[in-house]
Amino acid sequence: MIYTNAQQELANRIDDDSSISSWRNWKWQVKHVIRSIDKFEQVTEIKFPSDERKDLERTFKKFPLSVTPYYLSLIDKKNYKNDPIFKQAFGCVDELTTLKSELEDPLSEDKDSPVEGITHRYPDRVLFHVSNICSMYCRHCTRKRKVGDVDYVPSRDQLRKGIDYIANTPQVRDVLLSGGDPFMLSDEMIDWLLSEISQIRHVEVIRIGTRMPVVLPYRITDNLISVLKKYQPLWINTHFNHPREITPSSREAIAKLADGGFPLGNQSVLLADVNDCPRIMKVLVHKLVQNRVRPYYLYQCDLSEGLSHFRTPIGKGIEIMESLVGHTSGFARPTYVIDAPGGGGKIPVMPNYIISWSTNKVVLRNYEGVITTYKEPDSYEPRMCDRDCDKCDLDLQLNKEVDESEAIGIEKLLSDSSDTISLVPENNERIQRREENA
Ligand SMILES: *Cc1c(COP(=O)(O)O)cnc(C)c1O
Repeated sequence: MIYTNAQQELANRIDDDSSISSWRNWKWQVKHVIRSIDKFEQVTEIKFPSDERKDLERTFKKFPLSVTPYYLSLIDKKNYKNDPIFKQAFGCVDELTTLKSELEDPLSEDKDSPVEGITHRYPDRVLFHVSNICSMYCRHCTRKRKVGDVDYVPSRDQLRKGIDYIANTPQVRDVLLSGGDPFMLSDEMIDWLLSEISQIRHVEVIRIGTRMPVVLPYRITDNLISVLKKYQPLWINTHFNHPREITPSSREAIAKLADGGFPLGNQSVLLADVNDCPRIMKVLVHKLVQNRVRPYYLYQCDLSEGLSHFRTPIGKGIEIMESLVGHTSGFARPTYVIDAPGGGGKIPVMPNYIISWSTNKVVLRNYEGVITTYKEPDSYEPRMCDRDCDKCDLDLQLNKEVDESEAIGIEKLLSDSSDTISLVPENNERIQRREENA
């Protein structure tokens, strides 16, 4: 059953003319997005006390409200205060609290932006913001600073700047389309954009990050699938945070994408009072893999403004990972990451499994607490690498056209072909003193 009586009732309260076909029409959903407290009260029959209402009005003035009828239909009205769907869709006054440690743009996406729309942080891949609109404004949005900016669909000319940057930057082999939600663009625009990017010779894969399967699954139409199919390899990542979001409609959307041949991943955000529970996360990852979605990342909640009530200690994420590693299928566990404030990128964090180490023995512990040893080889011939693959007997037949990238960062410290012995922070006082005394 894809369409429930409750949804029919809700649809009628939103729009007298509604029918099953309009409920399942994504444009009807977008047109009837709930943007005011009055409308929200009218369709859900929830009544907020008048003192709360004032706070809510102030909150939505700063961070606007926008919920799709579909996502709203998932709210447990009788127990809404405790409902994970409600908490992600509807704001609360805590959003107006700003902590000193919070930043407008915690990931410095705007600073690492060479041209409008592009964030180029990693050597070989870029994030391309192709839309600034979403059907729903998730309350925990890391780009909260931009939520409620005037909605506009970028023109081809505006997108052209990003496309040109990618075309002129040969090291970019992976392009991640994000937003806003890229699937807010029309099928024609998506078709055009993917065709432009896929024609760039050095682009090997395109990825799309979208929350549509969760908040507006009817967007995944047969026509959209047939457009996307032209541009394989195309990877699609979505954003389920709670098992309650996996519904008949969202399962149908995911099945279409999986049948279309797109590898599917999921990025969850760890959210206090929503999914900060090892049991909830385990049910979520199991439901995801049952539906052919591979859990990809579990994000520590960013230091964006207005998210303090959603943040957990990092220990909660480690505890969740501890409950997954070994306890369930390897492909059902995401990588837990902290996106470094200031733009350092994603940093994976894990419980510790190495307990100790000598020159030829490692002591490890497993998920059960069993302590074990791994005996390392006594006669390993170190293999020196000077990055000259022609002289090496390992068979990496490098395509000469590929520009081999230089080692950077910690990889460079480990490299045999680099003389770098340390990475020193800028403004290191000791080094400055040396220079002054020289
Ligand atoms: C997350 C992110 C990517 C992609 O990172 P992966 O670890 O490859 O998924 C690329 N660019 C930016 C700016 C990102 O935040």
